[in-house]
Amino acid sequence: MFKALVIDKQDDVQTVAISELDESQLPEGEVRVKVQYSTLNYKDGLAITGKAPVVRKFPMVPGIDFAGEVIESSDERWKAGDQVILNGWGVGESHWGGLAGCAQVKADWLVALPEGLSAKQAMSVGTAGYTAMLCVMALQQQGVKPEDGEILVTGANGGVGTISITLLATLGYTVVASTGRMEEADYLKSLGASEVIHRDTFSSAGRPLAKERWAGAVDSVGSHTLANVCASMRYGGAVAACGLAQGMDLPATVAPFILRGVALIGVDSVNAPYAKRVAAWEQLTKLLDLDKLAANTQDLTLEDCVEVASDLLAGKVRGRVVVDCTALRFVDNLA
Ligand code: NDP
Repeated sequence: MFKALVIDKQDDVQTVAISELDESQLPEGEVRVKVQYSTLNYKDGLAITGKAPVVRKFPMVPGIDFAGEVIESSDERWKAGDQVILNGWGVGESHWGGLAGCAQVKADWLVALPEGLSAKQAMSVGTAGYTAMLCVMALQQQGVKPEDGEILVTGANGGVGTISITLLATLGYTVVASTGRMEEADYLKSLGASEVIHRDTFSSAGRPLAKERWAGAVDSVGSHTLANVCASMRYGGAVAACGLAQGMDLPATVAPFILRGVALIGVDSVNAPYAKRVAAWEQLTKLLDLDKLAANTQDLTLEDCVEVASDLLAGKVRGRVVVDCTALRFVDNLA
């Protein structure tokens, strides 16, 4: 038996409760994992509050990522005792997820926890941090270098934003943070931002082309913000777009792309191939200052998740949260 957060829906009414489940109820998968830590990402906030149709079938255990220890595996790539990480693959959406004491998943979906990173630290990074790394790698692959000029990070106080700032600053880039919470400017500077600007600069309809400023950008906001960011890129600059915190629309023109050679690179973490995941986690382990990461992380229990999910969507959470799942599998607690 194990405890899990369970989302259910009856007659169009969604409920969320902590339930006790039997391991025989777990979905199909070659690898059973004792979940040690999970986290709350933006998508988990949407799933738990029901604000967007993230959950594809009910009942569902949310949690799009987890870190834990393999209990048993019918796939030779994994064995009991291996420390693993899972991000994405529809887990927490169409396959039971990480906000639980136990999970069962496909062997293909797992990566080994890199040496030097604990399960808790991996979830302080979480899917938000791993996506931030994919965005930074996308800019690097596009040839954006520190000497090219300033890099803009939107949604700066969020999970993707905070870790993007930290990674870019560590790599020597000059980072400008865009936020709706100017009161957090000192915090964003402590992460590595050299300047903090108000997100209102980008949030309403703008012109097809604006003054050229950014050599690169990481955007987790979408909508008018992404359109205005594209319009204010320098010639040949690149934008890594991964999110929709302002909206899913993109009210832009082609002007920045056809007149300034701007590259708009889509970043997806959910179905990213194995080699890219491993490369991202290796880079994260090398680049992140783990003390700074700990200071950027709040600890939660399963009981806290519903309230914090609403706070997350309301933009009230700063940085990252980790959910302690170590005591949710009863057989371990008895042992
Ligand atoms: P968070 O909730 O931690 O952060 C989002 C941030 O966006 C907020 O902190 C806020 O920053 C800003 N924001 C919120 N609402 C608005 C708004 N209306 N207008 C402008 N800015 C706003 O989320 P994450 O960082 O975890 O995720 C960010 C986005 O990236 C989400 O849309 C998420 O779904 C997406 N994502 C995509 C992935 C992929 O694979 N493509 C993977 C992970 C995340 P501030 O207060 O500083 O303004």
